[in-house]
Amino acid sequence: SYTVSDSATGEPIATFHMDLHPRRGTFGHAAAFPLIRTRQLPDGSRQQPEAAIVANFTRPTTDKPSLLQHHEVETLFHEFGHILHQVLSRTELASFSGTEVERDFVEAPSQIMEHWTWEPEILEQFARHHESGEPIPTELIDSMVAVRRLNQAVATLRQVQFGKLDLELHRTAPGRDLDSIVAEVEKVSLFPHHEGTFFPASFGHLLGGYDAGYYGYLWSEVYGDDMFSRFSKEGVRSSEVGADYRREILESGGSRDALDHLRAFLGRDPENGAFLEKLGIPRP
Ligand SMILES: [Zn+2]
Repeated sequence: SYTVSDSATGEPIATFHMDLHPRRGTFGHAAAFPLIRTRQLPDGSRQQPEAAIVANFTRPTTDKPSLLQHHEVETLFHEFGHILHQVLSRTELASFSGTEVERDFVEAPSQIMEHWTWEPEILEQFARHHESGEPIPTELIDSMVAVRRLNQAVATLRQVQFGKLDLELHRTAPGRDLDSIVAEVEKVSLFPHHEGTFFPASFGHLLGGYDAGYYGYLWSEVYGDDMFSRFSKEGVRSSEVGADYRREILESGGSRDALDHLRAFLGRDPENGAFLEKLGIPRP
């Protein structure tokens, strides 16, 4: 468990917990859960928020600590983005605090965090050999960054396929042949449909909160990339941009429209240029 303090005042403002390794009976994937949502109390003081990351990262063994693979570090940063959203919120009402935002914006403050796990000056701070303490070699970071976008077209089309399938199934009138919808939407992936398979049977995001909102992952990624472009330009460790981000994006939670958050932070309307550039597609 960790206490979050405001560096300006030293005041403790929130608590978060991390349960990072597989344990029997706990959540089987990785997620961030709000435990206590912040709000303004009737006496004018603030209810301190509390949140938790539950994940299933590589366990420590008898002779080794938990050695995280890079994609696990990326997941940890992603979930920590949700934690920041939940614990730095300053809304009047709990129902608009932290991650209580538009479903197609909620993954922007988490996906933006993934960018930092690819920045050499960030990795050098904590990615060390567990025995020698040597920092991660620059050549290794360079080669990881060089292959970061390998197969990105396939991966992105797959996300488009999932988003489309989710929307199609939710707007389908009862009685329609679901197999034909699944096969039709699968064409987006450019891979042939495997007869006898039925992907939606294992598509957990179809129901349970995301319903018809899966497209929000890709939609939010566009916003996350656009917001990160300010950090890229002004410094990935810039405390000034970080303070703007905290104030304009995180603190107001869902108490105003996400588009207004974005305009306030970016100083302009959001755009998809940074997202397209990341995919190797020239800006329009
Ligand atoms: Zn997330």
